[in-house]
Formats: sequence, structure tokens, C-alpha cells
Amino acid sequence: MKQPAYDLASLRKEFPILAREVNGKPLVYLDNAATSQKPLAVIQAMDDYYRHTNANIHRGLHTLSQEATDAHELAREKVQGFINAASSKEVIFTRGTTESINLVAQSWGRANLKAGDQVMLSMMEHHANIVPWQMLREQLGIELVIIPILANGSLDMDAFFQLLTPKVKFLAITQVSNALGTVTSLAAIIPMAKALGIPVLVDGAQAIPHQAIDVQALDADFYVFSAHKMYGPTGIGVLYGKEALLEAMPPWQGGGDMIDVVTFEKTTYAKLPHKFEAGTPAIADAIGLGAAVDWMQRVGADAIGAWEHELLVYATAQMKAQLSGLRILGEAPNKVGVISFVLDGAHAQDIGLLTDQLGVALRTGHHCAMPVLHHLGVDATARVSFAAYNTLEEVDVFVAALKRVREMLI
Ligand code: PMP
Repeated sequence: MKQPAYDLASLRKEFPILAREVNGKPLVYLDNAATSQKPLAVIQAMDDYYRHTNANIHRGLHTLSQEATDAHELAREKVQGFINAASSKEVIFTRGTTESINLVAQSWGRANLKAGDQVMLSMMEHHANIVPWQMLREQLGIELVIIPILANGSLDMDAFFQLLTPKVKFLAITQVSNALGTVTSLAAIIPMAKALGIPVLVDGAQAIPHQAIDVQALDADFYVFSAHKMYGPTGIGVLYGKEALLEAMPPWQGGGDMIDVVTFEKTTYAKLPHKFEAGTPAIADAIGLGAAVDWMQRVGADAIGAWEHELLVYATAQMKAQLSGLRILGEAPNKVGVISFVLDGAHAQDIGLLTDQLGVALRTGHHCAMPVLHHLGVDATARVSFAAYNTLEEVDVFVAALKRVREMLI
């Protein structure tokens, strides 16, 4: 078994919450796909901001306001570097992945789509990349086409090629499925779509915590993610968009900060990125996201992903060896550290409640991806998902907890 490229014991010490107990047992936190824990660097950056700098940005001439503005814009530049965007104007702060997708659907979608146009999604999208397009279907009469998956949870690439007709005007696809862990083959998919002139939105919510992302190499038109899944705070996320597309898009929400001149007769809008950032933004959260970017760059996004892969391989092997009646949903050859599973005779909710008694935090339910679970014939699964700080010992505790659950329920 390979070791992480970083010092795991000292990295764990950076996460205060990992020292706590749950139900009298050491916390084993395996719900990272829902949200990751936060290192001291992030907690302290936000604490520091509120203690020493807090002010509203962009409007004030006083020192605090200028310092707060600088810190907020520095966070944007950090994100730009992290995803290799060509310009910081291409980094729009939103509340998260969900808001970023709604922004694109309502701004780009309403301006560019008409009845009968098709938006292509995959079977394994999170509800955040389904419902905004369904709302647009109700508003505009567009159609949705869904790329199916194979039995192992991979995308059905043959079906993708067949469905990719000139009627498709937009492709919105996840890079990693939160329910199955599948990594989609964007290197094959995006060039095909681009060859037909179809803009592509990539839902990177589950990808960005595990690998270095280069939006220019990917050639995505839009790339969206949430800070809270990559060691940053809740309440902030990113919409990356190519400058020319963002420039041509109408604003989504109106209000302060997104304007140039307002009269009752006519309002002109601010330049990018502010055109899409109406109202007082989540300033401390942006600074926290900047700190999370620094933290991930220090540890190394690819090093994190490589260690999580070791945990995935080990946990999958241990579960298969030690648990009868186990079904893992999603065994695509290219997966991140997510294991969704069911156990014969044990309801997912019971697994969640009983493992919690043993200090293990995992997720149960439909994981906001009802269509793909339904397709695989289940209503709910239990899911473990790994982060930089998880250990092989924690995997052992989790598998032992599942064995206890089996004994108790069956
Ligand atoms: N897409 C994917 C693939 C996700 O896993 C999630 C979060 N579970 C979202 C979108 C939505 O993210 P948020 O709730 O942070 O907006």
C-alpha cells in the first residue's frame, strides 16, 4: 500500500474537528462528498477578516473598505490561478454550484435557447444540474436529452455519439458523479461537442476536491463548483465562464454592485465579473475560499486524489472480502473515492443510524441524484466518500462497523 505524498498525521492536526468524539467514539468522517471539513488555515483566515478587516467592499473609500475589497479580489485571483482561467474577469462568485448552474440556465439559456432546442445532460447528474434545465423547459419549451449509463456506472459513450445531433444546443455534464463516483470522459466528450459548436457546462463540484483543474485545457465554456466541498466555507462557489460568453450574457439578478449608472429610465451594467454579482457578496467566505485554494495548492490536489484512490481501492477490497450481501453501485474503471452501496436485508437509513452510534459519519439516501439511483433499481444507498485526511485505520473502523450492523440487523 502506497503512503500519501504528505504527512498524514500532521495534516490531520490541521482539522480541529477531527479530534472530537461522536457518541463516545472518535469521529470517523466519511461524508466528504456532502461537505469536507475545514483546516485551521481557512477557519483562521475568516476569523482574522472579521476581527481586523470587516467592512463592505467596492463602495467605501475608508481603509477597512479598501482592505476588504483587496482581500476579496485577491481571493478571485487565487481561484483564477487554481483553475487556470485566462482572466480573473472569468471568475464569478456565486453561492455555490447550484446557483452557478441556475445563473447559466437563466442568463445564457433564456438568451440563446428556443422551443425545440435540446439541452443534453447525463443520467447521473445531481438534481442541481437537472432541475434548472427542467424549469427552463417549462419556461421556453426546450427538450432534455439524457446520456444513459452502462451497468458499471460509466457513461454510455456510444449512446452519447448517437444523441449528439444538431438539435443539441447545450451540454451540461458532471465531471464526477456524487452518487457513484464515476469520472466522465470529458477529454472525449468536450471536443466532440465543440466540433458541433455546442457550448459545454461542466459540473466540477465533485471533481475539484480531488484533482488539479485546468479549465483552458478542458476547454469548458462554463465550469462550476462549491467551496465547501474543497475544504472551504459554505455559502460561496464559483461560476467560471469564457469571457466572450459572459460578456454577451445578460445579468441574472439586479441590484447594487452590478450597475454602472442607474436612472429610473435606464440602467447600465457594471463590467465583468461584477455584472453577475448583485448585492453585498459573501466577503469572508470568498476569503475562506482563497485560503482553501492556498491550502489545496500547498498539499497538492493531485497528491490528495492519489491518496484517496488508495483509500478507495483498500476500502472496496475490504468491503467485498468481509461483507456478504454487498452491492456496490458504480464500479466504473475511472472513479474517485466514493463508494455507494447497499447491504441485503439492511435499510440504508438503519446503516446510517447504527454506524453513527459507532462514530462513523456516512451519508444515506438518494444523494440528490434520484434518477440514477432509480435507474439502478434502488431508492437509497449508503455512501462513504474520502478526503485528504482519511486513513486506512478509519476504513477498518468503518468496515468493522458495517459488520456489526449486519450482525444486528440480519
Ligand atoms: N453537483 C454535484 C455533482 C454535487 O455533488 C453537488 C453537491 N452535493 C452539487 C452539484 C450541488 O452543490 P451545492 O449544494 O454546493 O450547490
